[in-house]
Amino acid sequence: MQSEINPISYPQIGQGDGVYISTYGCQMNENDSERMMTLLEMMNFRPVTSPDQASLIIINSCSIREKPVHKVHSEVGRYRKLKEQNDKLRIGVAGCVAQQEKEKLKLDIPLIDFVLGTDAIDKLPDVLSKVRGGQNMVAARFEHQQPYHIQTLIRNPGVSTFVNITKGCDNFCTFCVVPFTRGRERSRPFNHLLEDVQKLTERGVKEVTLLGQNVNSYLSECGVNFAQALKRIASETDIERIRYTTSHPKDFTDELIEVMATYGEKIMEYIHLPVQSGNSDVLARMNRGYTREEYLNKARAIFAKMPNAVLSTDIIVGFPGETEAQFDDTMSLLDEVPYENIYAFNYSPRPMTKAAKFTDQVPDEVKSARLSRLLEKHREIAFKLAAKYNGQTLRVLVERYDQDNGKVHGRSTGNKNVHFTGSEALIGATVDVKITDAKPLVLKGEMVL
Ligand code: SF4
Repeated sequence: MQSEINPISYPQIGQGDGVYISTYGCQMNENDSERMMTLLEMMNFRPVTSPDQASLIIINSCSIREKPVHKVHSEVGRYRKLKEQNDKLRIGVAGCVAQQEKEKLKLDIPLIDFVLGTDAIDKLPDVLSKVRGGQNMVAARFEHQQPYHIQTLIRNPGVSTFVNITKGCDNFCTFCVVPFTRGRERSRPFNHLLEDVQKLTERGVKEVTLLGQNVNSYLSECGVNFAQALKRIASETDIERIRYTTSHPKDFTDELIEVMATYGEKIMEYIHLPVQSGNSDVLARMNRGYTREEYLNKARAIFAKMPNAVLSTDIIVGFPGETEAQFDDTMSLLDEVPYENIYAFNYSPRPMTKAAKFTDQVPDEVKSARLSRLLEKHREIAFKLAAKYNGQTLRVLVERYDQDNGKVHGRSTGNKNVHFTGSEALIGATVDVKITDAKPLVLKGEMVL
């Protein structure tokens, strides 16, 4: 594979200066922050843990949750004093808000020195050179249609790390800004993925999580689909564990289930399958591309082939027009699909999206009351589901050691957090742990020798 990134060419303008990155939002954003930090270290910056130690502050913004531009404005405002005290300090805004709201951010000139779109992260060295050379407000280009060539850049990959495989999304769910902020979907060439994963294993990585907004619609330029990609990464690299997120129910194929079941030693049995609503009419208004029954059929097919699969989901409560009866369909879905974890939120309108213009918005107090009912119901279910782990022995990949209490932390094949007494030497090892105390979010146990 040809490397698209040549570290030697980066300008050494950091001079050991501190850089502070404030990250909002999803794993894609966390991954982008890690990538920026790696580039900055190559330019001789050093990470610091507090903004007042920094000569460069980057706010990596997210527009999924509420009032994103307001959040950026108020964080930038908090740095006003620092900027007055330190004329070397430069502030940049990256991420989805930068992509979407670059005109509004201009209001914060001269506090904001540059804006970097989600597709422009690798232009950071160039942008910083210009900013440090005295140019203000360099808005790096926003190239949604460029081919998706990216190499995993990570300073200390540790035991488990993310590998981007797709970017953007073509689905245009009516509540979601991602197609506007991250652009149309693009997939990385498959041979690049394969080489990336193998190189990470050579650096000691034991587990990769393949990452994308809609990861299972991956399709390489030579026709390798997601199921085939998983199968080949499992069989042609030395990686021990493979995970992926996030998948779309409509693209969750039988072929994918078959590959997961066949390569279960390497492909972990945890599946995050966002349902968003349990009512087919609401799903149609969301433009999700499946009905309740079709979703349930996918869940049944998963458990038929992988009885130990662990499922989690995302749910939006109070989507415009959602009636009490439609919400009850979401409640009853929890009786049919044994989700061990749910990520549920009140609907809130996003700029540019269709649903923001729907006139039948649900009042906030109704949304909040429904959300409380849903979370309460799931709490009971989660405790019952967790109880099954008591007495079970799970294969756990150890990720870190906590010196304060002598506990090691790792994850089971089903992505459960497992804590037990151990030593630092176990980091990176896969061990058997007998569970003695099972709660929904944490399983405690003892290592089986
Ligand atoms: S599938 Fe829908 S919710 Fe997910 S990123 Fe695409 S548009 Fe957004």
